[in-house]
Amino acid sequence: MKKSIIAGIIIIGITVIISLVIRFGFFSGTSGLKDDPVRDCIKTVRLTESVIVVNVASDAVTFIRTVDGIVVIDAGITPSLTARYRKIVEKEFQRKDFLYLINTHAHHDHTGGNSAFPGVRIIGHENCRTEMLAGTGDPEKIKAWTLKIIEEYENEPYLDESGPENERENACQKLRFQHLYNDLQKGIRTVKPPDITFTDSLTIYAGGLAFHLFYFGKAHSGSDILVFIPGLKILMCGDLFSPGGIPAFSNGGDTLHWIAAMDRLMTKTSEIETVIGGHGQIMNRNDLERFNEYIRKKQDR
Ligand SMILES: [Zn+2]
Repeated sequence: MKKSIIAGIIIIGITVIISLVIRFGFFSGTSGLKDDPVRDCIKTVRLTESVIVVNVASDAVTFIRTVDGIVVIDAGITPSLTARYRKIVEKEFQRKDFLYLINTHAHHDHTGGNSAFPGVRIIGHENCRTEMLAGTGDPEKIKAWTLKIIEEYENEPYLDESGPENERENACQKLRFQHLYNDLQKGIRTVKPPDITFTDSLTIYAGGLAFHLFYFGKAHSGSDILVFIPGLKILMCGDLFSPGGIPAFSNGGDTLHWIAAMDRLMTKTSEIETVIGGHGQIMNRNDLERFNEYIRKKQDR
């Protein structure tokens, strides 16, 4: 081959690499992960025949199959990752009909992937819609913030005594933000707020299952709801609490609402076996009861 042809091929190759770096940032680097880093990071938990929770690190989406179609709870941080979860679930459930997407609150790591479900009705509290529309922010600022987080993960001294599992967790967390950055860069992460909203409570029926949605009051955000599915003995608690019932509140207090919501739920505890948190934590009735105690103690103060 002539030298000039070889030089031409090299120049084209370098140009392609540079354009990919400009387009996608630097984010195909996935130290600690294999050739398909997303596949390596995805955890699929099949809780029952009809319930699947898919995670990448703290990103989590829950899928519930009904005879009428699939109901989704929360949508993860960004559409390209959520589209991967969706594909897995379509294969597992052998169907592609998505009925509803329910957002447990407005935070971007629960609603950023909403656009991975085009045409699917999104349900959430009225404040979820308001908060999402008000919180769109400047995409450049969000990108800068995301870059900073990626850098922090890169600098994390994860090779400590916690070993390879921590290294992997760190790589998967970084991967979430890389996908977020790339989706922002490509302009495919659009704000898609709920189109069906409610202020106090709402029950939707799908394939013989009732999904009771009720507002909890200002707590972790201004739009937290609980989703109780008695037919499956499942409660979805969003980011209201973590294992041990520990509350994660950051938005003031609305104790009257909290107590009313818990009063409503505590008469149903025999109908709740599994509690699923907004980051894929699988909990049980005891965690809910501990949370109830915390709430009442907070009110007494
Ligand atoms: Zn949250």
